[in-house]
Amino acid sequence: MSDAAQRREELKAVWEQANACQKCPQLASTRQTVVFGAGNAHADLMFVGEAPGAREDERGLPFVGQAGRLLDQLLEEIGLARSDVFVANVLKCRPPGNRDPLPQEIDNCQDYLFRQLDLIRPKVVCSLGNFSTKLLRGDPTGITRLHGREEIRPIGPRTLRLYPIFHPAAALYTPRMLETLREDFARLPELLALPEPPQPERAPEPDREPELVVPAPEFAIVAAERAPEPLPEPEPAAPEAAPERPGDEQLGLF
Ligand code: URA
Repeated sequence: MSDAAQRREELKAVWEQANACQKCPQLASTRQTVVFGAGNAHADLMFVGEAPGAREDERGLPFVGQAGRLLDQLLEEIGLARSDVFVANVLKCRPPGNRDPLPQEIDNCQDYLFRQLDLIRPKVVCSLGNFSTKLLRGDPTGITRLHGREEIRPIGPRTLRLYPIFHPAAALYTPRMLETLREDFARLPELLALPEPPQPERAPEPDREPELVVPAPEFAIVAAERAPEPLPEPEPAAPEAAPERPGDEQLGLF
């Protein structure tokens, strides 16, 4: 199996683990679904939002509400579609009443995100808003100071190009913020064209436990059940985009 295919299988295994997660008793008892993230498992560009809202919790997919439609529009403006990128959140479960994620919840959930980043290996990670920016930078500096400034950072076992930008939900009702978000988005193609930062030496991987690997057909069934669901409102037409790397085939979720 190629390295990319292997990583995709491991991503499915992490998805299975997150689906059964009970680390945050309140979130586990109030959620309808675990919103693991969706998109291309080998995406060059990954977005990290805050936490699922009500629509996302219903559908099991990230950014399917108003903020998601804005994200799609901004992607389209730079010639990309949702299927080209991977979208995830800091928290995989909806905080009840859309309250802010609690520090303990972020702590409990962060390994799923770090595993996603390590397995997807995006060239650019776009943190959307404060929660993901603070977590990925390991620093409390806010998004207003940091947005639009790319930096190379060690995140988990990899060195990643991090690009903090405003959260689309924050830009929905503030035209000036939307303008800034659009300007920051416009730099993404340039950042995606940069060479990947040099990676640290990795310790040899420990032997894998075979029972963690979910067989693809089982997963594909779950994905296929979700894929045909109608979107809440008409979506803008996505531009055709050819996969750029081998093994970029898509399932419903990734
Ligand atoms: N806001 C987020 O941060 N994530 C979602 O998935 C939806 C809205």
